[in-house]
Amino acid sequence: MTWSRWQVPPFITSVFFVLGVLTLYWVSYNWLASWLHTRRINVKDDDVSTWYGIIYMLVFVFGIQTFIVGTSDSWQFMNFQLIAMIFCAYFLNIHVRYYFFFPILFVYMLFNGSMSYWQSWGHAVTMMIFFWVLNVIRVKYRSSRIAPLVYLLVGVPFGGVLWLWMKLKFNFSWVTLWQEWVYLVIFEVLLYAYVSMITHDSEIKVRLARFASHDALTKTENFAAYTDTMDQFFDDSTKTGAPLSMMMFDIDHFKHINDTYGHSVGDEVLRKVAETVQTVVAANDPKVRFYRTGGEEFNLLFPGYDVASTNAIVNQIFAAVNHLEIHAGGQMIQVTISVGVSAITGNDQSPMDFYNRVDKNLYHSKRNGRMQVTVA
Ligand code: GH3
Ligand code: MG
Ligand code: MG
Repeated sequence: MTWSRWQVPPFITSVFFVLGVLTLYWVSYNWLASWLHTRRINVKDDDVSTWYGIIYMLVFVFGIQTFIVGTSDSWQFMNFQLIAMIFCAYFLNIHVRYYFFFPILFVYMLFNGSMSYWQSWGHAVTMMIFFWVLNVIRVKYRSSRIAPLVYLLVGVPFGGVLWLWMKLKFNFSWVTLWQEWVYLVIFEVLLYAYVSMITHDSEIKVRLARFASHDALTKTENFAAYTDTMDQFFDDSTKTGAPLSMMMFDIDHFKHINDTYGHSVGDEVLRKVAETVQTVVAANDPKVRFYRTGGEEFNLLFPGYDVASTNAIVNQIFAAVNHLEIHAGGQMIQVTISVGVSAITGNDQSPMDFYNRVDKNLYHSKRNGRMQVTVA
């Protein structure tokens, strides 16, 4: 087969073109987001997706328009451009303030040489309202079962009105209008189905990543997450000299709780202890990281803290857990913890050296009668 025989109907080509543009967006956005993560550049994923989405779609819209600008059928690519806009407004749920619309639409109309056409102004205003309505229905019906229906109830009539403005301006036939409108509706349906599939896939990825880094019982981060972050913090600290402290604690005589009340009560105790520590951390400083590193052993990392500045939070955690009254299996159970605290020093060659010192402090607390804090 030669290229000259490559006869694919334009509609099929356009379907794959639209899907290709979306796939390229996804692949490149994912690459950008993970690149920013590995560089530890602190930007929110939502901000990256908003700005990258806007730039990507503007380049796409203006890019394809350059091929046909100034021709008598410069409406040819409007369906692609509408799909790009729907993608930004509905699926990325980008909220563009109305005063940002004016410059974008103004430049677009200038670019198309359509400033003097009243139809183009009608078209521009309809676009703005369409964008705004897509934003609203996305937020309102996000998790509703009728979300696809609402999406179509908005997308179909707005598409029709937008094509009507174009018919008024370019005076093409009614048949062309109907044809383009039907194509747009097909694209809208395809867009919905395709994005839903991709979103479903990335939700699974997010869930798996969460599963890999979190402890299923207490919902705190797990040992794997601890080693990851610890390596990072250790690196940062050796490079910049920033302080870093660690608190480790172990529940006293936990085996006795299991042996007396059973494992499910033991599990409930672990959950309640973890929840209590989370509450103290959240109320003090969300930068402090909390991990379940072993069965009834937990670990907290304090980036930017020397030992003295951990004092207040360590004491709050110590007091909160020791005063906890846990109701499980028809019993009221109380627990105590033994704690070790230390800060990183210039002699620590690896995270392990640091960890071992904190561990030693913890066992010092155990050997000295438990329910105490050792700082060294
Ligand atoms: P110490 O004061 O010296 O720390 O005594 P201990 O009994 O707490 O310490 P030991 O290491 O002897 O026992 C820890 C127990 O924790 C043994 C294990 O069965 C229990 N454990 C570990 N993980 C879990 C869990 O996920 N659920 C429950 N219920 N128990 C667990
Ligand atoms: Mg113990
Ligand atoms: Mg233990």
